[in-house]
Amino acid sequence: MQKKIVVLPGDGIGPEVIAEAIKVLDEVASLYGHQFEYEYDTVGGKALDEFGVPLREETLERCKQADAVLLGAVGGPKWDTLPGHLRPEMALLGLRKGLGLFANLRPVEVFGPVVETSTIKKEVVEGVDLLVVRELTGGLYFGKKERSTSAEGLDQAIDELIYNEHEVERIAKVAFEAARVRRKKVTSIDKANVLESGRLWREVVTKVHQQYQDVELEHMLVDNAAMQLIRNPKQFDVLVTENMFGDILSDEASMLAGSIGLMPSASLSDEAGKGMYEPVHGSAPDIAGQGKANPLATILSAAMLLRYSFGLQEEATLIEDAVKSVLDAGVRTGDLATSGESITGTEQMGEYIVQELRKSKVTQ
Ligand code: NAD
Repeated sequence: MQKKIVVLPGDGIGPEVIAEAIKVLDEVASLYGHQFEYEYDTVGGKALDEFGVPLREETLERCKQADAVLLGAVGGPKWDTLPGHLRPEMALLGLRKGLGLFANLRPVEVFGPVVETSTIKKEVVEGVDLLVVRELTGGLYFGKKERSTSAEGLDQAIDELIYNEHEVERIAKVAFEAARVRRKKVTSIDKANVLESGRLWREVVTKVHQQYQDVELEHMLVDNAAMQLIRNPKQFDVLVTENMFGDILSDEASMLAGSIGLMPSASLSDEAGKGMYEPVHGSAPDIAGQGKANPLATILSAAMLLRYSFGLQEEATLIEDAVKSVLDAGVRTGDLATSGESITGTEQMGEYIVQELRKSKVTQ
């Protein structure tokens, strides 16, 4: 198989974790005889420094032409005081909108060997295996933003929250389809008791459910969902929710797995196979450049890329199994280590995964 991947390392730990994911993709390519061509480009803070914008038109165009996009992370304190439209994070919104990436998939699987690193009790998190499906191109983050002065002369801000039925319908379908090949349960999360957009959300999801009678549907208010995720996360299979709730709940859910450094994501469009893959974490400026970052979230994102964009199920599973084996063997980056455990650096972790891939392919 011959494929072109646009690689956007970004800022902070982005380039460090991307380097390890590329090592892993290269190894998979050589083990299975695929050819992955990488086209590197600059986004986020680095693009602001070099080109004065977080995302160039030509970068977006390159991404549209590619078979898939792999992104590290963007942002950092250096750019924190810039006006809203010039923040590095605008690159993410521009990519999502420009590529039509309306569905964000964030799996949360609690890997047995690192269950101790979660701050939540072992019996609560052990065996958790859920998928957050987040709507990614609507809602508050994309609504009109305004600053003005109130009648009393006070500074005020307005963020507009709009959803239409098509946007809800297509994300609901993604959730029901995903549930069909999992444990066949969808929990739809909204704030229908307060928000009109929440009431539309609930109506449309209920209507779409008529086509998926083999899947169980439950509705849950977002405040309850935030609580249930910590109280009894094993009740969930697929959670589907709007943009901002999904942003917050998926970060909360990531703590079930012990570290955000283990959390991959896929953002998919209507166009078959097109997607962008990135770790859930940010640019972690506090540890950037120190070789301490956990590259597993990005490596697992690369596995999702192979599965969802290229249909390479076996290769994706080989990577996911390699991650489990390496964790089973007790290898830990700093974010996963409990006291007394020795700590492995970013590059070394990538190397362990590559070695594990070679070993398991040979024994297949
Ligand atoms: P963050 O995810 O970067 O870091 C939160 C904490 O988790 C930090 O203590 C960090 O050291 C740790 N951490 C994150 N990833 C890790 C990894 N792979 N290995 C080990 N530890 C890891 O979130 P933040 O500190 O709120 O944000 C930092 C910057 O990243 C900000 O500019 C923010 O806007 C940006 N950000 C970008 C994205 C993205 O690019 N998708 C997502 C979230 C935040």
